Amino acid sequence: MPMDSVTVSIDHDVCMGSGYCAREHPELFRMTTEGVAELYWGTKEPVPLAVSDKLRKAAEDASAICPAAAITVSDR
Ligand code: SF4
Repeated sequence: MPMDSVTVSIDHDVCMGSGYCAREHPELFRMTTEGVAELYWGTKEPVPLAVSDKLRKAAEDASAICPAAAITVSDR
């Protein structure tokens, strides 16, 4: 399966804690005890990810459904 590098970031200043991203794409996002989203593996900093096409699509879908436009997906 081809791997690609993307950077996924969450703007915690605008995340409103809806939980949509974590509910729809738990392989990428989870909610913190403070009620904001973070990447599943627990970093609040944007990190470049080596992802499959499926994970890239999941990140892009999460960005599209986020009501606060807090999720950004960009090419590395
Ligand atoms: S969908 Fe957006 S607003 Fe909702 S928890 Fe995720 S990042 Fe925050």
